[in-house]
Amino acid sequence: MRVLVTGGAGYIGSHTARRLKASGFQPVIFDNLSVGHAFALVGMDSIVADLADRDALSAALRRVDAVMHFAAFSGVSESVRDPRKYFHNNVQTGLSLLHAVLDAGIRYFILSSTCAVYGPPSRVPIPIDTPRLPINPYGATKLALEHALEAYSAAHGLQYASLRYFNAAGADESGAIGELHRPETHLIPNALLTASGQRSELQIFGSDYPTPDGTCIRDYIHVNDLADAHILALRYLHNGGESAAFNLGTGTGYSVLEVVQAVEAVTGRPLPRRVCPRRAGDPPALIADPSHANKLLQWKPSRNLRDMVSNAWQWMQSPTYLKAQT
Ligand code: UDP
Repeated sequence: MRVLVTGGAGYIGSHTARRLKASGFQPVIFDNLSVGHAFALVGMDSIVADLADRDALSAALRRVDAVMHFAAFSGVSESVRDPRKYFHNNVQTGLSLLHAVLDAGIRYFILSSTCAVYGPPSRVPIPIDTPRLPINPYGATKLALEHALEAYSAAHGLQYASLRYFNAAGADESGAIGELHRPETHLIPNALLTASGQRSELQIFGSDYPTPDGTCIRDYIHVNDLADAHILALRYLHNGGESAAFNLGTGTGYSVLEVVQAVEAVTGRPLPRRVCPRRAGDPPALIADPSHANKLLQWKPSRNLRDMVSNAWQWMQSPTYLKAQT
């Protein structure tokens, strides 16, 4: 099956595109490289263009049977500062893509969604049927596309899966691709940048949360386990599975301090750190209840926190990363 991977030069999209290829699919990456990286296109069938380029998009859609849509901005704080950028790119451009997909008669659509659609959870682990009440523009933009998919599926028969990611982490085991954001804000890469001496200390945002060690708990999920879920979701839809949303996390949470310990264990270096005030909008604990994905997609994440940290560490020492970082 031929699959258009929008945002396929980005972090999760690039890992998914490679695993699609390794699993016998024919991925076609569509990316404007505004956030994505040229190194992710090496060896891949790709189109460098903007989703707003209607001609390029229509031509690309004629070549495929399914779409996986990763091309979106994903910074929570940035979405608060610049919501227009987020509604324009994630909603306006996302809807244009969706309409082009309908016009092209494509039947399968996989959406990169997020646990940010839930807002502060009333129950942890978070069940899939938790009401969606996002508290930041990023979550609201993803929810808007989820709503559109639900309506278009009912009205037009589009088959979709909305995949709500928890905390993506790690890198491909090959060391060829991995995470590289500018600026980097995420915990694991920030901790590894500190371990490598590129940052003087890791800031720990809050140590007075109502958690066992006082720091926030998150459900970290290896990027290749996420990638595999996309492939399983496509197979599920193709086999007649009903359109649905899925939580993609392991179901186990780790605190910031537990991540720090994992980073020290993997790198063998002590991590200079400083407790800072809480970061605005951080809920104390976000943990997935992934049972829906386990059951319907037969998805079982196989990599643990140590794997995520060590693959990320290996990636951050690779020539590709070091070259792209400069
Ligand atoms: N965090 C931290 N220091 C950092 C980056 C993140 O203490 O330099 C904390 C953050 O407050 C949150 C957790 O680590 O509790 C995960 O944050 P990240 O930005 O990686 O992902 P998010 O949960 O915001 O999507």
